[in-house]
Amino acid sequence: MAGEERVESGPAEPVAGATAKKRGFLKRVGWILGATLIALMICYASLLISSDGLQPDQREKVQNAIAVLQQQGFNREAFILKHLTVFRRTDNWWNKYIGHRDAYAATNFPFEVVTLYPDFFSVPVDDKERAAVLLHESCHLMGDGEDAALASTWRNKRRIGWTADRYHQTRVWDATEKLTRASFPYMFQCGTDGQSDCF
Ligand SMILES: [Zn+2]
Repeated sequence: MAGEERVESGPAEPVAGATAKKRGFLKRVGWILGATLIALMICYASLLISSDGLQPDQREKVQNAIAVLQQQGFNREAFILKHLTVFRRTDNWWNKYIGHRDAYAATNFPFEVVTLYPDFFSVPVDDKERAAVLLHESCHLMGDGEDAALASTWRNKRRIGWTADRYHQTRVWDATEKLTRASFPYMFQCGTDGQSDCF
């Protein structure tokens, strides 16, 4: 009897064992993924709970700036800003913990939370200039670092109509040019003097 059983179950046993092992592995992976997802959701919720949302007039300014990007064909950036990003007007715990260098905005990647500081609403002279700031933040929302965001915004500024002839005396222009020039001197080696902006 025992011999018969061994013959029958002999070839089946390793398969059953492998299936059980695979199931155990998948269960573990599922558990890890689930736990990670829950942790991310708790972190995301905590970012929102620890900060305040925009006021209606602030939201309008943000929408106008996004509209500028959309009109100029920055479809991916506009989509992310419009549909995937949550805008806040006060620092969440993460920003408070690490501090922020930018006066206008801070982005928490990959949570797609953008905090807009009072200067974002008062310093830029119009929607185009706010669009330039949001273009910079959209780079961070896609995972880019500071240098990549600076370079991308400087290269694309003409497309949103943010040009030297109209904006060279604004605070946002001045600060952005200084930072970009410091990081990318080669972008400013054009013109007859070899010291003019190439973009
Ligand atoms: Zn930045």
